[in-house]
Amino acid sequence: DLDFARTTALVIGAGASGRAAAELLVFLGARVRLYDQNPDATVPAGVVPVLGAADVPPEALAGVDLMVLSPGVPPARFRAAQQEFAPSARVHGEMSLSLAIAAARFGRLPTVLITGTNGKSTVTALTGALLAAGGMRPFVGGNLGVPLAAALLELLRSRAPGPDALVLECSSFQLETLDRAATDVAMVLNITPDHLDRYPTLEDYAATKARVFAGLDGDGLALLDAGDTFTPFLRARVGAGRLVLVDDPAGAHILGPGPGDSLVLPAGDTVPRNALPIPGRHNSKNALFALLAARHLGVGLDACVRGLEGFHGLPHRMTFVRERAGVRFYDDSKATNVASVLASLDGFDRPFVLIAGGRAKGDDLTPLRDLLRRSGRALVAIGESADAFHALAAGVVEARRATSMAEAVEVAAALAGRGDAVILSPACASYDWFKNYGERGDTFARLVRALSAEK
Ligand code: ADP
Repeated sequence: DLDFARTTALVIGAGASGRAAAELLVFLGARVRLYDQNPDATVPAGVVPVLGAADVPPEALAGVDLMVLSPGVPPARFRAAQQEFAPSARVHGEMSLSLAIAAARFGRLPTVLITGTNGKSTVTALTGALLAAGGMRPFVGGNLGVPLAAALLELLRSRAPGPDALVLECSSFQLETLDRAATDVAMVLNITPDHLDRYPTLEDYAATKARVFAGLDGDGLALLDAGDTFTPFLRARVGAGRLVLVDDPAGAHILGPGPGDSLVLPAGDTVPRNALPIPGRHNSKNALFALLAARHLGVGLDACVRGLEGFHGLPHRMTFVRERAGVRFYDDSKATNVASVLASLDGFDRPFVLIAGGRAKGDDLTPLRDLLRRSGRALVAIGESADAFHALAAGVVEARRATSMAEAVEVAAALAGRGDAVILSPACASYDWFKNYGERGDTFARLVRALSAEK
């Protein structure tokens, strides 16, 4: 039901998705309050600001019948306040609220939910590309790109026709508040250590990821990577869904490496590996996840192949920047944890100078030492964790420290020889020196382009 005229809503958190949820609710006729502890947070027109207090003030909860949590806020803390001061209120996240509104407005849409530690954005964008190649008009976003609430507001305002499918990237934070939303395909791409600042153990983090399966019925498809250490844990939580394993001889798998490499689906569909322009075995697996989802939603195999061929990847994921004096430069700023650096660089075809470091996330760095021993030329350590990265590489390859990205690019370019690569693949968050990973990668690329043509 889209009648929010009698609803008083409290949105917790004034980030992009909280603001989008608040605006959507105002548009639908609700009275909306927006709480954030930041006194300077931006609040959309028509929304009552509740800013500055360290905890949500009890009076802000008075009369509330809908509470919407943002991904950035710990639900347990705010549920306690809700239970005390607004016990009859429904609790949603931005994504679960938007899914309910989308269902009321556009009916039950084919829905694909994508989560995992690494590869979410790539698989989300690729699945969207395959559906589009099949003539569909999916909404593609969620954690990636635009929050669903913002897209819905735009559609409702402009009275444009709605999407015919939803392809949603879900962070673990969004899954915490997602309850049994009707789902056709749900997948966990992998689980490796990340966000251990928010979850007490890796099992808690994985159990949150497994919530992605909650809305599958008997016709729904659940996808997992056969080789992931958490797959036994996750497969016990698939519920009603039919499980297909990726990278499994009996499920979807990769033939090769070799000239006849192909991607093979369980029904026998086969796609040449070279239809997919983005490199790496991890991307072959990403393509299998996307292919399984698109085929389940009825996209023809030929359309899927066209969709793969047109997909050149998202920015800041091993993006080629420039070749200079025989050295190739790559921006892999999106590699914000150790596992993603390994996925990008294990098996890379040139010796490389690695630029790494930033805001540490607490993962174990030792696998990077082995990677450097195998194929590294040198390491340039940056950011808050420069000392830890420097110490890690010292004695294995030449190791340097840089105090700015400009210095890092200069030092790395000097250390690389003809036939080498220089790669920014930091294994850390960017917030120490930059606004986000995009700004970090853009800064790197700009500095690389500015290097003189000759060494
Ligand atoms: P996310 O949205 O989950 O952060 P992205 O698609 O943006 O994931 O990819 C981030 C990085 O993760 C990539 O640059 C790559 O290094 C690594 N990666 C991508 N897909 C996989 C995968 N299937 N398994 C492991 N690592 C991956």
